[in-house]
Amino acid sequence: MKIAIAGAGAMGSRFGVKLQAAGNQVTLIDNWADHVAAINRDGLIVTTDDGTDHVYPMTAMAPQDVTDHFDLVILFTKAMQMDQMLQDLGDVLSNQPAVLTLANGIGNVETIERHVPKAQIVVGTTVWSSGMTGPGHIKVTGTGSISLQAVVPDAFPNLPAVLDTLNGAGLHASEAANVMAAIWKKAGLNSVLNTYCTLFDCNIGEFGTLPNWRTLNDAVLNEFQAVADAAKIQFSAADVTDLIAAQFSPETNGGHYPSMHQDMANRRPTEIDFLNGYVAKLGAQLNVPAPTNAILAQAIHAQETLKGI
Ligand code: NAD
Repeated sequence: MKIAIAGAGAMGSRFGVKLQAAGNQVTLIDNWADHVAAINRDGLIVTTDDGTDHVYPMTAMAPQDVTDHFDLVILFTKAMQMDQMLQDLGDVLSNQPAVLTLANGIGNVETIERHVPKAQIVVGTTVWSSGMTGPGHIKVTGTGSISLQAVVPDAFPNLPAVLDTLNGAGLHASEAANVMAAIWKKAGLNSVLNTYCTLFDCNIGEFGTLPNWRTLNDAVLNEFQAVADAAKIQFSAADVTDLIAAQFSPETNGGHYPSMHQDMANRRPTEIDFLNGYVAKLGAQLNVPAPTNAILAQAIHAQETLKGI
């Protein structure tokens, strides 16, 4: 399959390497000029669990330089970069490719829909992980899986081909029964762990040792529940709380600093407007107040401002 990875940061690069190794024709598309130049000059360097560096020759370019068309465009920007990337892709989207995103956060479908008909859009979640160590260089750990669904399942006959392509690359993809429920579940978890660990400058295990973690957790997730109910999205605050509690031990994710903490430390914008901020905004539209999520989004923006982001 001819595949574009639009937003070839940590995750996009990891997926690009795996899809190319499986025989697909992959182009990495990115707005970070130093990253694009480093990949074209030195190849993409992937450091694996055991500390070994592997070099993969790959084609990378800025969106404005792409003249090709693709069967599948995988959008792997951060949620707040997606609209700009879709604008920059312009004519690249004109041949009606399937457009898949596994980016975190709620609201990505609305963003993509502004540029691409709903019938072409596939969304999902993934537990693969990856980190950028510098331009042209990523560090990867462990394995993962993908759960996805076409936004209009009846209008998207190519899902088996997309699944085959992802699974042919060992990405362990399956069709979700209710992808919006999966997206909200992951966003609920991130809106507790990412947001509080960033504000308190702690890891997930340290958050779990706080005597009042449940109070903090419930303040966020009870509002998620009310907004999800009003929006007719399947959501269970109790299930998300159980999932969060399961992350505290050192054997799971206790020692991990969530991605928002890393973004803040690296002075990069966070995805807060697509997590707590999204629920606060949707709640306001639906007349379901979500003041805790609104103020947490403001607190993260204040921290970004203080860091000069
Ligand atoms: P990323 O920040 O590595 O890359 C996103 C974009 O930002 C890319 O276009 C990248 O080139 C650019 N970028 C990164 N560092 C930059 C720098 N220093 N200067 C200029 N541009 C830079 O994002 P990611 O971690 O690949 O995440 C993509 C999406 O996937 C997000 O929605 C994220 O929440 C989600 N996600 C990430 C992981 C993970 O382990 N990284 C896991 C699951 C989901």
